[in-house]
Amino acid sequence: MLVRLRKNLRGAELESVLTRCRDLGCEPKVLGADGDLLELETPARPELRSVLEDSTGVVQVIDAGNARELALQGGEPLEVHVGRARFGAGSVSVIAGPCAVEDEERTLEIARAVKQRGATVLRGGAYKPRTSPYSFQGTHAAGLEILANVRAETGIAIVTEALDPRDVEAVGEVTDMFQVGSRNMANSPLLIELGKLRKPVLLKRGFAATLREFVLAAEFVLAGGNENVVLCERGIRSFDPSTRNVLDVGAVAVLKRITHLPVIVDPSHAAGRADLVRALARAGLAAGADGLICEVHPEPLEVHSDGAQAIDYAELDHVISDARALAALDERELVTFE
Ligand code: PEP
Ligand code: MN
Repeated sequence: MLVRLRKNLRGAELESVLTRCRDLGCEPKVLGADGDLLELETPARPELRSVLEDSTGVVQVIDAGNARELALQGGEPLEVHVGRARFGAGSVSVIAGPCAVEDEERTLEIARAVKQRGATVLRGGAYKPRTSPYSFQGTHAAGLEILANVRAETGIAIVTEALDPRDVEAVGEVTDMFQVGSRNMANSPLLIELGKLRKPVLLKRGFAATLREFVLAAEFVLAGGNENVVLCERGIRSFDPSTRNVLDVGAVAVLKRITHLPVIVDPSHAAGRADLVRALARAGLAAGADGLICEVHPEPLEVHSDGAQAIDYAELDHVISDARALAALDERELVTFE
């Protein structure tokens, strides 16, 4: 590990950094003409970087060496399984469904339709993270019950959001994968709770989060022992209101290089409009995404959240045939029920 120290560190400050290194079991070497670089032979312990970054007198960890975080240690790409779906390591899967679970009959109809078209996971929030407290907040326990019934009826796997650590148990009884929404990316108590489980977690990037912050949020789950994290790029905030968010395809390409975790793209929340979803889905897959999560609804005028960005079944057909073609282009496979 290479650490930059503040120039002209006073004796006691320098000594305290050196002592901290020794307490961590590493013998530091002071380098550089100004004595402002520290080199350490570190074991592969991801906590060392943060401890040093928090030390007075340390400006920056320039290179973490093998004390990198679990998410950044490299190694074989991970394949995360959610029911029949597989994300990563050459497998591409599509998650589709309504923004929120509203009524059972409609949710069942959507589940059947998306499954038949090639989606392998049904999305739908029972607990909705909304910007305003006056907006529709979801159907909560009733929504979870609908998801459980639809899962039993169709065999499709479910991803739904847990907003609060107190909801994890109830949501976990129904879901195959926990969604952590953009507004909750940095909710460490929730991430710690999900780290205790072994069920996959779909972690959405905060709309103003750097990739380092995103990866460190995933690290909360990994550090708890739950290796099954799928990252989701869903667009970041920009100055331009033409789209709801800006889909950061560069981030997809970067994440695919720095982490072994699968990365998927949410073109719906990036676009905010149904007519742009297909184009953004294609861009995300072309950048290397291991899957998609799309909002789908046959009657968008009926819904209480995100109707404008819901694509219909015919458009989902296009998205899925694009996904199949783009996966094949990179010698990857689109996973479906057949
Ligand atoms: C959603 O998936 O419906 C949602 C609220 O997404 P995000 O957390 O990305 O805004
Ligand atoms: Mn939504």
